[in-house]
Amino acid sequence: MEEKIIQITGLTHFYNKTKDQPVLQDIEWEIKKGEFVSIQGRSGSGKSTILHIIGGLLTPSEGYINVDGMRINGLKEKKLALFRLKSIGFVFQSYHLFQNMTALKNVEEPLFYSGVKRKYRKEIAQEMLSKVGLEDKINSPVQELSGGQQQRVSIARALINDPDIILADEPTGNLDGLTEQEIIDLFVYMNKSLNKTLIVVTHNDSVADCASVKMKLHEGKLVERKTGGGIVKEYTESNKISMEP
Ligand code: ADP
Ligand code: MG
Repeated sequence: MEEKIIQITGLTHFYNKTKDQPVLQDIEWEIKKGEFVSIQGRSGSGKSTILHIIGGLLTPSEGYINVDGMRINGLKEKKLALFRLKSIGFVFQSYHLFQNMTALKNVEEPLFYSGVKRKYRKEIAQEMLSKVGLEDKINSPVQELSGGQQQRVSIARALINDPDIILADEPTGNLDGLTEQEIIDLFVYMNKSLNKTLIVVTHNDSVADCASVKMKLHEGKLVERKTGGGIVKEYTESNKISMEP
């Protein structure tokens, strides 16, 4: 039986206090271990919000999120921080790196927070940077690297504590076509070779085409379209909207 890694039940989120306009509405969703999920949808449809909720950066107004069998909404900040550190790797459109630090220092940093001894940190980070093809840029300050190279550093950083889940928000949004493909290849590598569960928000159809499950957010509601068989499925009764082919 396929093992589920993320389970979302009755998720609704409001940013405004009057609670008249949900940003996410009645979301029921299960993600299985090892899935590569893409999320597409118009700007403002709630894509970043749902990633932030899954990653424990934001607590939803209503509903439950279980990750690896643990309810993450309702956790105290200290436990949430530990959850983010150990279970989730984040990749952002604008990399979120320390520009004046070297690639190595950026990748080492999460190891410091997870208590890995200094003498091991360097070695582990070097190895990870080699895996993403940056062995010759280890000691370069990030500000001297290209966008694509910076995104590789951020992928190495996301992987460094060996999380089960990688969340990415428009990871190729700032890259040109050629570099984009290198990053797509790394996502496929993370999924196929490192067995990471990936959830990738993207406007880019070439990224979405690599996903095993394609999701679409429309006005805060989620629908699913599996790749391969081309099955289109309305996700829940309350979420009944149709998807274009
Ligand atoms: P997407 O990533 O799909 O573009 P977001 O999840 O960022 O969408 O935003 C969904 C909606 O929530 C948008 O209308 C946006 O303006 C609003 N929103 C996002 N973040 C906040 C916030 N921190 N406070 C208030 N409203 C927000
Ligand atoms: Mg967004």
